[in-house]
Amino acid sequence: MNGLMQHQPLLISTLLTHAERHHGSQEIVSRRVEGDLHRYTFRDLAQRARRMAGALAAMGIEPGQRVATLAWNGYRHLELYYAASGSGAVLHTLNPRLHADQVTWLADHAEDQVLFFDLTFLPLIEAVASRVKTIKAFVAMTDRAHMPVSPSLPGLLCYEDLIDANEPDFVWPRFDENAASSLCYTSGTTGHPKGALYSHRSTMLHTFAAAMPDALNCSARDVILPVVPMFHVNAWGLPYVACMVGAKLVLPGPWLDGKSLYDLFESERVTMSAGVPTVWQGLLAHVESNRLRFSTMRRTVIGGSACPREMLQTFQERYDVHVLHAWGMTETSPVGTVCALKPTQMALEGDARLAVQAKQGRAVFGVDIKVVGDDGRELPRDGASAGELMVRGPWVIAEYFHHDGGDPLVRDAEGTGWFPTGDIATIDADGFMQITDRSKDVIKSGGEWIGSIDLENIAMDHPDVHMAACIAARHPKWDERPLLVVVKKPGAQLTRTELLGFYEGRIARWWTPDDVVFVDEIPLGATGKMQKNKLRDLFRDHRLPTA
Ligand code: AMP
Repeated sequence: MNGLMQHQPLLISTLLTHAERHHGSQEIVSRRVEGDLHRYTFRDLAQRARRMAGALAAMGIEPGQRVATLAWNGYRHLELYYAASGSGAVLHTLNPRLHADQVTWLADHAEDQVLFFDLTFLPLIEAVASRVKTIKAFVAMTDRAHMPVSPSLPGLLCYEDLIDANEPDFVWPRFDENAASSLCYTSGTTGHPKGALYSHRSTMLHTFAAAMPDALNCSARDVILPVVPMFHVNAWGLPYVACMVGAKLVLPGPWLDGKSLYDLFESERVTMSAGVPTVWQGLLAHVESNRLRFSTMRRTVIGGSACPREMLQTFQERYDVHVLHAWGMTETSPVGTVCALKPTQMALEGDARLAVQAKQGRAVFGVDIKVVGDDGRELPRDGASAGELMVRGPWVIAEYFHHDGGDPLVRDAEGTGWFPTGDIATIDADGFMQITDRSKDVIKSGGEWIGSIDLENIAMDHPDVHMAACIAARHPKWDERPLLVVVKKPGAQLTRTELLGFYEGRIARWWTPDDVVFVDEIPLGATGKMQKNKLRDLFRDHRLPTA
């Protein structure tokens, strides 16, 4: 017998309809690329998102087609979040920190139909415009007065013209909640980036879970400033959470330095924020050197990379800002675990409590985690046995976009698929997970991926290189930076400077390895694969040159 309750598909547009009706006068404040502060309300957001949805329809964008953005955190980007997904199209948030070759590859792979961009990224757009295969229109996210004149972009459209040309009478369509809503790429483990294709259902369930008190803990009384970019796993879901709970949203645009963030925290009375450890270093340095205090900020979510214990301590003890350490992945939408304390840990003091908070936390409801040994068997939850972290849940991917890489899941005895994260972790008896290492060959610098394979391929193109491996070395500011380990061809005179110079123009500058070490051989496994884990152990504490 079925239950007799209403069936309403879980659709992203319903978040906006709710926010407009129940929190219509709540504010959204954005620092624009132009430098000024823009403010409007959820009511304005909803109306403009409907106008933009009308514009997408007029452009011929059909359900399921990809609408790409290259944009900072700002109100126009937020409008596109809702206009694209709400109308049944798929929002593809491109990462503007990538090289033009990578952006071109991603836009082609996603088969993007239209690309919206902030003016900051005009040079990048000019570099890709004639190369991308499927994009029919480029839209500058600005008004007529700021429209650039670019000979390489004939037919460039103006965002505000599109808004003006359409009425706010667009009616959000009702469709299957399993329809795709947005697409984010991760550089993943091997080869090309892979796409995680979220659905309306997965996004909505993730939003419910992320807002919960023991997750990101958001309410209508909050003023949320996501420092984490909207092009990075949907800013950890905060643009959706804000609409669900009716929180004021403050969007910092391109200004992510300590002073700009601090000023915005204070002037807009921000209560909670979220970002990777690197941005907090800049903020804390500014606050410390100017002897400032946070008058309203009381919580911050730190994730993307491990939060150093010292950062936890500084935020909490010196500034009375509670840190929520969280773990997630593009493949998990992203929130997987959050380090919200239970009463037993609240009773702990000093170092004992910090030691718990330095863990990545416990699974939010909906996500299930376990760690497994080399034989795939589950390891005890004893806080000591380390194995690969496996995850499952309704907002965890089942497969990558275009089925790239085949079936990523590992089945357990009951046949349930678990996603292997490539992170090595322990789980303690209270359910708190702690990452101890990473088995995947990627480098995470300031919260952004650097693909080791791309860097190795470039090195291998150099005529004097016999073999090259790229691994992560620890860095005090960026957490990790690429270190290239190279075996030269016999008799070659190649130098470090020469090899690093070889990267120029071939890759985004910040991807260039920080250092090169020349070795006689790189250890190989039984199948002839480079054993990068051995190199990582050898060079983890390699002292990188300070530029
Ligand atoms: P991304 O797909 O870019 O969100 O990156 C996901 C990966 O970042 C994870 O698999 C981890 O390797 C790493 N990561 C995310 N959060 C944390 C954290 N709190 N501590 C350590 N590593 C993390």
